Amino acid sequence: MVDTVERESMEYDVVIVGAGPAGLSAAIRLKQLAAEKEQEIGVCIIEKGSAVGSHILSGAVLEPRALNELLSDWKERGAPLNVPATDDSFLLLTSQTSYKLPTPPQMHNHGNYIISEANFCRWLAERAEELGVEIYPGFPAAQLIYGDDGSVQGVITGDKGLSKDWQPTDSFEPGMELRAKYTMIAEGCRGSLTRQLETRFKLRENLDPAIYGKTKSDPQTYGIGVKEIWEVDPAKHQPGKIVHTVGWPLDLNTYGGSFLYHIDNNQVAVGFVAGLDYTNPYLSPFEEFQRFKTHPDIRPLFEGGTRKAYGARALNEGGWQSIPKLTFPGGMLIGCSAGFLNTPKIKGIHNAMKSAMTAAEVIFDALGQGATVKELVEYPRRLLDRKTSWLAEELYTARNIRPSFQYGTLFAFAYSGLDTYVFRGKAPWTMHFHHADNQTLKKASESKKIEYPKPDGKISFDRLSSVFLANTHHGEHQPAHLTLKDAAVPVNVNLKDYDAPEERYCPAGVYEIVGRDTGNPRLQINFSNCVHCKTCDIKDPTQNIVWVPPEGGDGPEYPNM
Ligand SMILES: Cc1cc2nc3c(=O)[nH]c(=O)nc-3n(C[C@H](O)[C@H](O)[C@H](O)COP(=O)(O)OP(=O)(O)OC[C@H]3O[C@@H](n4cnc5c(N)ncnc54)[C@H](O)[C@@H]3O)c2cc1C
Ligand code: SF4
Repeated sequence: MVDTVERESMEYDVVIVGAGPAGLSAAIRLKQLAAEKEQEIGVCIIEKGSAVGSHILSGAVLEPRALNELLSDWKERGAPLNVPATDDSFLLLTSQTSYKLPTPPQMHNHGNYIISEANFCRWLAERAEELGVEIYPGFPAAQLIYGDDGSVQGVITGDKGLSKDWQPTDSFEPGMELRAKYTMIAEGCRGSLTRQLETRFKLRENLDPAIYGKTKSDPQTYGIGVKEIWEVDPAKHQPGKIVHTVGWPLDLNTYGGSFLYHIDNNQVAVGFVAGLDYTNPYLSPFEEFQRFKTHPDIRPLFEGGTRKAYGARALNEGGWQSIPKLTFPGGMLIGCSAGFLNTPKIKGIHNAMKSAMTAAEVIFDALGQGATVKELVEYPRRLLDRKTSWLAEELYTARNIRPSFQYGTLFAFAYSGLDTYVFRGKAPWTMHFHHADNQTLKKASESKKIEYPKPDGKISFDRLSSVFLANTHHGEHQPAHLTLKDAAVPVNVNLKDYDAPEERYCPAGVYEIVGRDTGNPRLQINFSNCVHCKTCDIKDPTQNIVWVPPEGGDGPEYPNM
């Protein structure tokens, strides 16, 4: 951002960053309450994608609980929930065969719907606009505005027309100041402003135990989900069918698995999630996914089919233990910015919506009292109270499943059975995450290289042909939005100690060490390929890579991910 420039300014009661399910539900709830009380409030959402939904990637099986509360007439209003879940199965894969396991209770999907989250967001955006919410796609929030008292007072949207070295060019357009009484951060998993807020307000420390039940929160832990949409032979397509797998191709110390969701129009959404606490720097989540599709029991579904779309996105896996402080003076974190995904269920949409609705109700009350209270602790007090909040009860009872995988898949299977069936999520202990995902890699010298098979171009593919299907674009004139705190670290640390893991964990081929053969290696950043998954921001061993928003509207153009 350019510091010394005059910026236009607009004032709202509430500014919301991000038009995902959380941001849109917050806006709808605020305007519903205003309409009920016949009050006028100004609510604006800004979104970095060129349109609502263009940066949204999910599974997705939707549990409609929060939607029923927000818009109970969603069926009559044409919500795109067209495929009810019909059939669940859970498979353990070995390299040559598969075993059907009992589906864990959290993964039963009766009453749920397989959706495109992007289309769902587009529909929510229409509902929000009907109520008078202003939505501005193509505008990333690049910076927070702080008042003299240190409180957050809104955001500044990204500048346009900067040169590669961050200087204004002839086409420079300064970002705008959007000032607000309250700012809601709904950036989804690993938001760029969220990261700044966590540091500035120390959101993982000094928690009020009366609200959070703890004084510190565990580090957030993440997974990367790589996804494709296929059009398959109609004879193999069963709308509503849901399959999850664990096991091969991952080893017994790496958390992860796949999902296969049969949606409408003979399409299947297939994805693979790998926990980003993996230890082997040679692991490539992208290649694990490509290899998974070649399994003898999986491959036949895709034979004769066509791959239509590709993308990737990180997801939170920390759950209850990793919930940070949700408020700061002038604003709050909602949805996956805070990390409300239920990992054993692989579902976060309903919780993102519920947290947003609760936050909106608290903000509405505060606005009615003149917005004199800056930090709205009533929001976490309501949301995290297990006696009254279904979100809290759900995350609490699921809390020990994901951390048990730190001790290996076999232990976790046995433990999860005990925790779920005997203790019913109420075991008198809580397992913890002790390390952030950037701290878990072993040195390359202590790790075994993984030889991945060459893609066959029919079922399995390479990165570049995949990224082509993400329709991603970044103007080449601008600075790289993958910034390095220290330009020497990629070679002096990452290459030397870990054999450049960014070449493998990035699902879009953005990072490339060139000049290895001339003895003069350097990191080349092909930033125009980036699909905004945020994995590098999470997994880079020294946290040297910092993802910042590129020019507004740049990034993937996902149709229905
Ligand atoms: C592979 C995968 C599978 C999943 N499967 C399921 C599933 O089956 N069921 C389920 O319920 N959940 C699933 N989830 C989780 C679900 O997608 C999330 O819980 C949900 O999307 C969170 O909603 P959100 O609004 O908090 O964030 P998001 O949906 O991530 O939305 C955030 C929005 O904010 C925008 N944004 C971010 N930063 C900025 C900025 N600085 N300025 C402006 N805009 C910004 C983004 O472009 C995006 O549009 C899955 C996730 C993944 C990755
Ligand atoms: S550069 Fe980072 S955010 Fe972009 S696709 Fe690669 S890992 Fe994801």
